[in-house]
Amino acid sequence: MPDETPLADALRALGDSLRYYRDMGLTDVPLDGPYLASPVEQLRLQEEKLQGCRRCKLAGGRIHIVFGSGNPAADLVVIGEGPGADEDQQGKPFVGRAGQLLTKMLEAVQLDRERDVYILNIVKCRPPGNRNPEPDEIEACGEFLAAQFATIQPKVVLALGSVATQALLKTREPIGKLRGRVHPYGGALLVPTFHPAFLLRNPGQEYKRMAWEDLKLARRERDRLRG
Ligand code: URA
Repeated sequence: MPDETPLADALRALGDSLRYYRDMGLTDVPLDGPYLASPVEQLRLQEEKLQGCRRCKLAGGRIHIVFGSGNPAADLVVIGEGPGADEDQQGKPFVGRAGQLLTKMLEAVQLDRERDVYILNIVKCRPPGNRNPEPDEIEACGEFLAAQFATIQPKVVLALGSVATQALLKTREPIGKLRGRVHPYGGALLVPTFHPAFLLRNPGQEYKRMAWEDLKLARRERDRLRG
């Protein structure tokens, strides 16, 4: 009798993926795509597909496309708004001053940025002068964000700042009203918090205290959902 376990496992994984794509609103799954590859391989192929992208006007000013970094099997995904100058230079998200603060915020709840989370941005190219990404740019990058999500299938999303949170939740509510609680998002729970760049500009204790509460909430939800 042949061992049926690997086939059963593969079919179960395929079913999980298809349900996830459906919940994310995907209506079309190309059969020649990377859908049966490992998460690491899927992300590599997605990043490769992005090279040379000219879907929006951010393409003209970039040095590097900043795809994402961390653990593709992480239960927690951290989402910023878009690369700044340091990230554009290095091709990696959150490596500048805001990134150093983000690393410390994660470490404060015993999360290592390479081992425990995957970090990405709403748009993958730097907006000029660090302006906010515009709706057409967010829209143009949306398919890549959706593909990253479908691959990683996180249980919790930590959304940094109003641009990321509003784009993900499709709302105009200010971050001060959205933070402090969880929101359903594509089969995961989304925890909004202040962007570390905002915390650097507003060093008062009050915002820090709220961000600390949000980080603890994200950590608690991650631990609860992974069982
Ligand atoms: N700010 C962001 O939103 N993302 C980065 O990668 C860096 C700074």
